[in-house]
Amino acid sequence: MDLIVARPEGLYCPPGDFYIDPWRPVARAVITHAHSDHARTGHGHYLAHDDSAGTLRTRLGDITLQTLPYGEVIDHHGVRVSLHPAGHVLGSAQVRVEHGGEVWVASGDYKLEDDGTCVPFEPVRCHTFITESTFGLPIYRWPAQPVLFADIDAWWRANAAAARPSVLFCYAFGKAQRILHGVDASIGPIVVHGAVEPLNAVYRAAGVALPPTLRVTDPGVDKALLATALVLAPPSAQGTPWMRRFAHHADAFASGWMQLRGTRRRRGVDRGFVMSDHADWPGLQKAIGGTGAERVFVTHGSVAVLVRWLNEQGLEAQGFQTEYGDEDDEAPSAPAAGAEATAPPVAEPGGDASPLEQGIAADTGSAPAVPDIGEIDDLAGGPERP
Ligand SMILES: [Zn+2]
Ligand SMILES: [Zn+2]
Repeated sequence: MDLIVARPEGLYCPPGDFYIDPWRPVARAVITHAHSDHARTGHGHYLAHDDSAGTLRTRLGDITLQTLPYGEVIDHHGVRVSLHPAGHVLGSAQVRVEHGGEVWVASGDYKLEDDGTCVPFEPVRCHTFITESTFGLPIYRWPAQPVLFADIDAWWRANAAAARPSVLFCYAFGKAQRILHGVDASIGPIVVHGAVEPLNAVYRAAGVALPPTLRVTDPGVDKALLATALVLAPPSAQGTPWMRRFAHHADAFASGWMQLRGTRRRRGVDRGFVMSDHADWPGLQKAIGGTGAERVFVTHGSVAVLVRWLNEQGLEAQGFQTEYGDEDDEAPSAPAAGAEATAPPVAEPGGDASPLEQGIAADTGSAPAVPDIGEIDDLAGGPERP
């Protein structure tokens, strides 16, 4: 019997009578992490990791929430349920479900490299693995974090030397805290947008070391201070009046999509830093291999490409129709006049638009999105076609 099936409401465990990251309101929901396409309002009961309590309540308000530490098993209708680190954002978990000798793992979103802001991904042995495929194309290979942060630091340092604020657009939950944790805070002051600071507070409360951050409204935050500052803002702030205070600023965008040159061009920023909270192509392969699973279901992203590759490896693989978004949590706030020219439209439901939906292919899994080779930035080791 299949322990997890795709239903119109979400991924469903029939013997346990609960859903995992459902996209329609249900009685019982196990939530892998607090990004909005995975954690939605309206469920009767939520189960998530201890470290997701702060982000879930920040986002969803007063919900009926039960939390678990990693590895602790609870029994629900004879189904053993436990949560295991996914390495994606604070509190992110893979859901292990065991019943009648069968083990299934639904991974939610995950990343393999330890970023210091959440418990690193751990492979969990299972018969059947449910994986995302947000960046499931061979072109996606992330730079190692020391390389990434050396690039960000060098950009910030050069801007500060020229008395230009360094505005770095990044998602408010997860990405912003990774950047705070990873940059060299001795370069200058760090200012964050109002959407970022509440999440910083949740991370700090969970014991994650983040450097001091300022809000633009704090005393002492003036033109002189901003001239050497790193400013972290969500993509929705781009083109809004909030940006006007950063005169002659340099701007950049941190995202896995920045591996595509066209994305950076459409975003209209000076620099793109290739940084993702999802597994890259080698990471997906390694994670799936590490589970020992013989069956794999692929939920979102480049579903067809990953399914084909897994079938070629002799695994039984197929896609699951889901309504997960591709990256993140940024609700589409109304862009300021003129912002449409640089910001791609936001995919519904649940998150930031894939750059691929602009002329290449929607990232919903039906069509493999193969960017033109001209879109690919200079990759270490050279790009490789799927
Ligand atoms: Zn996510
Ligand atoms: Zn996702």
